[in-house]
Amino acid sequence: NFMLRITDLHARVEEKDILKGLNLTVNPGEVHAIMGPNGAGKSTLGNVLSGREGYEVTGGSVEFKGRDLFALDIEERAREGLFLAFQYPVEIPGVSNMEFLKAAVDAKRKHRGEPELSAVEFMKLARDASKKVSLDQAFLKRGVNEGFSGGEKKRNEILQMMLLEPGLCILDETDSGLDIDALQVVANGVNAMRSPERSFIVVTHYQRLLDYIVPDYVHVLANGKIVKTGGKELALELEEKGYSWLEQVAV
Ligand code: ADP
Ligand code: MG
Ligand code: MG
Repeated sequence: NFMLRITDLHARVEEKDILKGLNLTVNPGEVHAIMGPNGAGKSTLGNVLSGREGYEVTGGSVEFKGRDLFALDIEERAREGLFLAFQYPVEIPGVSNMEFLKAAVDAKRKHRGEPELSAVEFMKLARDASKKVSLDQAFLKRGVNEGFSGGEKKRNEILQMMLLEPGLCILDETDSGLDIDALQVVANGVNAMRSPERSFIVVTHYQRLLDYIVPDYVHVLANGKIVKTGGKELALELEEKGYSWLEQVAV
């Protein structure tokens, strides 16, 4: 019983084939890093899995916790515990971070058949989580991501992840402007949440992040498929050798 099983996945964006037969199996408790050259399809994979509009699946299948992922709409995927962080941190002016988080936590608890938290109980939960990601409580009152810096958005996403307790967390580190403190917050958040029931897919260009989040597997995505899989030492090898030796294999 795997968390996620991707079989021969093909997907296109704007009439262009991006994923071309991707296979990946993630078991509960595992952390998988996905690395690869720019434009390989890493973010496309996250977007396809989360159900983002504009990404057309043209072949293959994805099983998520034993269900056909593509039979679930975007909200159902989230409710079933799939969480995609960082790729498109939306700003929602006029809705406070607190209201947004409370609504998300309420929906999660309802889905699980748990009673709704009182405002006081929720505040305590949110405050404790903010401390863990070193985000000042003032951010809870601000509009969702409104005017947040890159690092603050990432902290906020980890905060969301902590409160939502997803089963499968996909982190797509898109910008390079992450300072070492924010990097550590992300890593500490992930490490604190690692559990035998939870899985992570960490997309990163930076070997450095994997010094903090030590993955069980490292995969190279090139030309729309996984072309190499190894342990954490593969990240070091890639740092040294780049991707070109693998891209040739992939053609
Ligand atoms: P990576 O994350 O590995 O750098 P992406 O998945 O972002 O790669 O992109 C893969 C390819 O798909 C690129 O050629 C990119 O330009 C294209 N692509 C991704 N998203 C879109 C989109 N929304 N519209 C048009 N092209 C896109
Ligand atoms: Mg890119
Ligand atoms: Mg990307």
